[in-house]
Amino acid sequence: MVHKKFLIIITLILFAAAAICGILSYKGGIGNRINPENSNSEEKNINKKNNQNSLKDRTFTGKNLKYNNQSVPVLYYHSIEYEKGNELRLPKEKFREQMKFLKENGYTTLTMNELYDFLAHDKPVPDKSVVITFDDGYRDNYENAFPILKEFGFKATIFIITSTIDKEEDFLTSNQLKEMERYGIDIESHTVNHDKLDRLSYDKQLYTLKNSKEFLEKLLNRKIYYFAYPYGEWNENTIKALKNAGYKMAFTTESGWANKNKGLYRLNRVYVSANHSMAEFERRLANEKYDISE
Ligand SMILES: [Zn+2]
Repeated sequence: MVHKKFLIIITLILFAAAAICGILSYKGGIGNRINPENSNSEEKNINKKNNQNSLKDRTFTGKNLKYNNQSVPVLYYHSIEYEKGNELRLPKEKFREQMKFLKENGYTTLTMNELYDFLAHDKPVPDKSVVITFDDGYRDNYENAFPILKEFGFKATIFIITSTIDKEEDFLTSNQLKEMERYGIDIESHTVNHDKLDRLSYDKQLYTLKNSKEFLEKLLNRKIYYFAYPYGEWNENTIKALKNAGYKMAFTTESGWANKNKGLYRLNRVYVSANHSMAEFERRLANEKYDISE
């Protein structure tokens, strides 16, 4: 008899606990839906739920969108590891400060596909959009930049020199590339050997463009469509070869925000130097025609 009573009490307690849990989770659901102030601006304009950790394309809706007659700043970095006197190597503390600025000021970081759809198909993106890119594929992109990008829930793209993968100590390994891509870091091509393309024949250009593309496609098991010119060097043959190899968009090192005015194979980028102050970083993000002589 005592036993039976005990069982009934236990059952009642369990029922009560289940009911309370149910109410709480229901409240949480409603709260998320009716109170957009709970979410940060990176997520505010996003239709889909919880896709921050993948390369899936997002659809942006609501107010404060921009269309492809406008420009988007595409930042470009190299190494995220301090080295005295080398402006291509940014201390990770400085990188973090810049990412924090983007987060606190409501920027959305776009993937390559999202930028392409914006430029080529006029799919709108948030007014405060930015693209984060890294050239060459230094190992410190994984060790120093990746944890910071994850911390802020940011997308980014690495243009990699494919001959360095698993071969050179200072560069990213195939496992690191795969891990970053699973999270939502785009891996794209920067040739096989960091070639000075404008000095190569058309056939040699086509070879390095195709070879690096196929290498990454095999490694990552998806199509590669985007490219950054080593040293920012290219000629008419390069653009012809890019199109024939199947690339859809390419980035120069010319200063300014990216727009469709000069075509999708001549997109400007915003250089980030270790010598720049935070004020200079902000100035380059504030005006698409920022003066580089300053
Ligand atoms: Zn490079």
